[in-house]
Amino acid sequence: MTIFKKIIDHEIPADIVYEDDVCLAFRDIAPQAPVHILVIPRKEISAVDALSEEDAPLVGHIFMVIQKLAVSEGLENGFRVITNNGMMAGQTVPHLHFHLMGGRPFGWPPG
Ligand code: 5GP
Repeated sequence: MTIFKKIIDHEIPADIVYEDDVCLAFRDIAPQAPVHILVIPRKEISAVDALSEEDAPLVGHIFMVIQKLAVSEGLENGFRVITNNGMMAGQTVPHLHFHLMGGRPFGWPPG
């Protein structure tokens, strides 16, 4: 069981900013930007490479939640959405998650 599953089950605390039947959004414990929120599905999917066709509506729903959070967090000047897939990309928690980050400028290409 991952740490994110424990957050979904409310077994460990998190600063949850949004929750519905499909997904959960909470503030990252080690924020890398003034706004740094993780949006995760309730369904236990390890990463993008473990998605299947039936998960497409779930991913679409998560992006609509990200859009609403970007508005409610005041990120009208821009924001970044990141998902790390696998070790080389720096994924540390094997439960699909999207980082919504904003409130500062970001460089390109990312490090
Ligand atoms: P990854 O490196 O897998 O893309 O991102 C995992 C993220 O989860 C990291 O940014 C890390 O700070 C965050 N994180 C890890 N453990 C916890 C936790 O227990 N609570 C919260 N809120 N964030 C966590």
